[in-house]
Amino acid sequence: MDEPLNFEYEVLKHYLHKEMWARAGLIEIVANLMRICFIFAIFTAILIPNAAFSEQFYYFEDHKLARNPVVCTFEFEDANLPEAKDQLLQETKEAISDWQNMLVEYTGNEDVWKMQYKVFPKENQHDFFAEYDCDITVYFEQEPPKEDIRVSGYTDAFSFGLSEIVIFYREPIFADETQNSVTLQNFEAIGFRNSIDPYVGETIRHEFGHALGLDHLPKEAISYKYKEGIPIGSSIMIDDYEGLPWDIVFEITEYDVMALVNLYGEDGFVDPFTLLFLDLIGYVVLVGIILLIVYFVIRRRKRKKFEFR
Ligand SMILES: [Zn+2]
Repeated sequence: MDEPLNFEYEVLKHYLHKEMWARAGLIEIVANLMRICFIFAIFTAILIPNAAFSEQFYYFEDHKLARNPVVCTFEFEDANLPEAKDQLLQETKEAISDWQNMLVEYTGNEDVWKMQYKVFPKENQHDFFAEYDCDITVYFEQEPPKEDIRVSGYTDAFSFGLSEIVIFYREPIFADETQNSVTLQNFEAIGFRNSIDPYVGETIRHEFGHALGLDHLPKEAISYKYKEGIPIGSSIMIDDYEGLPWDIVFEITEYDVMALVNLYGEDGFVDPFTLLFLDLIGYVVLVGIILLIVYFVIRRRKRKKFEFR
């Protein structure tokens, strides 16, 4: 009589044993996997900066457009420089189409690099409802603040690819301009002329490079020629001119375009995952608001009923 029991017990023990071993094996496997992941993480942490450097492309961290951007700007008035408005709005339009055309030309992909340009009336500036749809917003100011006199423009980059560009459009007067040899080493403005900076187009293109996700090129990259011999010495993303010829014309080079294609891929600005995530946040907030409204309505109704009785 005992035997079947024993037998069953043996079978059970066998299976238990097997189960235990299986679990022990699983734990072992998981532990090993974790070890491998840990070692892999350390290796990638060491290797990634080197890999990025060997590619010689320079990006902003965590700043990337998630969709085809809407670029917004505003009409403005400058009594001393009445031509400034039309000229700067036109320059901005051209800067956008320059970046766009270079990207289309390089990838042969027409639709995925589209940027929409909107000019709002002056009074809509800093109006949330006018600007809510804008990914890149461009503002124009006459001069930089005193403490930032070297700067001819800047870009504030935010998450989800949003950014704000400010362009200072008056022509600066440099300290060493009175001497015959103009160098770009002493880039300290001592005042501003009543004229538009002839380099304002370069400034706008440079700030757009930031808005699209590009960082400055470090000095050691400037003398470097990219694979296939593409020079990056005149890249619009250079901000340190020391040692460069003073008459150099900075432009959107094929190198800058390659950097963007490297950042976004051939498929362009649209990042479906970020868009989905943003949509989800939108839905969660919407559902949350509806639930709150329903909750308060029900509570009020209940209270009323109670008071009525
Ligand atoms: Zn810059």
